Amino acid sequence: MVAMSAPDLKERVVRYARELGFDLVRIASAEPLTRDGEAARERVHRGYMDGMAWYTEERVRRASDPQELLPGARSFIAVALSYLPPEDDGDETSGEPEGTVARYARWPDYHGVMKERLRALEQQLSKYVGRAVRTRVFVDDSALLERAVAERAGIGWFGKNTNILTPTHGSWVFLGYVLTDLALEPDEPLKKSCGECTLCIPACPTGAIVAPYVLDARRCISYLTIENRGPVPRDLRPLVGDMVFGCDICQEVCPVNIDVPAAVETELGRTGFSSLELIPLLSISQEEFSVRFRSSPIKRAKRVGLQRNACVALGNIGDRRAVPALGRALGESEEPLVRGHAAWALGRLGGSEATVLLEGALGREEDAEVREEIEAALGARERV
Ligand code: SF4
Ligand code: SF4
Repeated sequence: MVAMSAPDLKERVVRYARELGFDLVRIASAEPLTRDGEAARERVHRGYMDGMAWYTEERVRRASDPQELLPGARSFIAVALSYLPPEDDGDETSGEPEGTVARYARWPDYHGVMKERLRALEQQLSKYVGRAVRTRVFVDDSALLERAVAERAGIGWFGKNTNILTPTHGSWVFLGYVLTDLALEPDEPLKKSCGECTLCIPACPTGAIVAPYVLDARRCISYLTIENRGPVPRDLRPLVGDMVFGCDICQEVCPVNIDVPAAVETELGRTGFSSLELIPLLSISQEEFSVRFRSSPIKRAKRVGLQRNACVALGNIGDRRAVPALGRALGESEEPLVRGHAAWALGRLGGSEATVLLEGALGREEDAEVREEIEAALGARERV
């Protein structure tokens, strides 16, 4: 095999990755991610990652050192794939109370599609250079400060909402990476920034963007409705609105995200989950949940988490048609988390029927935390 020059090799890698369907492909060196590692450690110290037990200082140390992730690593191939649904993506509304689903979750689970393509890219690298190239793939599911790599490669820049903003597709992108021991010519970071804009900071309903570029995950609706396995803090529930899985608000207000093209993907397909009818979720069985959300990122919230979220959204939407179903969830759910949030929603909806249901449940409930939720809900009724 004739040795390929460094620029030729990079050009072929980038061309092949584009052929695989990625919208953006750039290269970064595998130097330590020192600055971002320090910022991530500071977030851990401040408690902003509390609730994600796996996000420890030790993890951050590994995540900022590519040599730990792949000994001998020289380069990252960073890619982005647009997921902005077309304008007409919305389902027909049913007239029943519905919760909003974050845009990325309107597609089937992206990890599989991204990984399949990145693995094809991995294999191609070895063919280009005629030796077994060492590689490791990252798609938002292992230790790596991924956004820091995207910034270094010039895929985009850090927005004050902590998303990576790409100049062509805004922040509506899935990001992925191949770390390799191949030396590829790095691209430059972009010379762009948010400038004076701060629109996303006051737009965040829960005040989760506590300073430019700093997110308190404990307050972020994306975390609260997806990763969080416990209760949604009571003071934040009214601020969650109708969002049943994830949150796009700080992306929707971002001027960089206006007038960017919709995804041209055909392979991703669509799940149709731009919103979810909430009342049926309260009684969905584990089997139904597993089948319905089998190939959707929504399964990450798990059935109990989605039911908790449905209670919060129903409490906020304020449609009293939800009262009987919330009453059944309060009386019959085997999950204290669901019973507690159903009580909260009934307290929020109010009315005599809700009060009767809450009082009846208080007479039977044995779980201390659920009892406390019911008492708080009844207290809320007394103050109305
Ligand atoms: Fe705030 Fe929603 Fe953005 Fe989280 S995703 S920072 S809750 S606007
Ligand atoms: Fe940056 Fe403004 Fe977008 Fe926030 S809304 S990420 S400040 S450009």
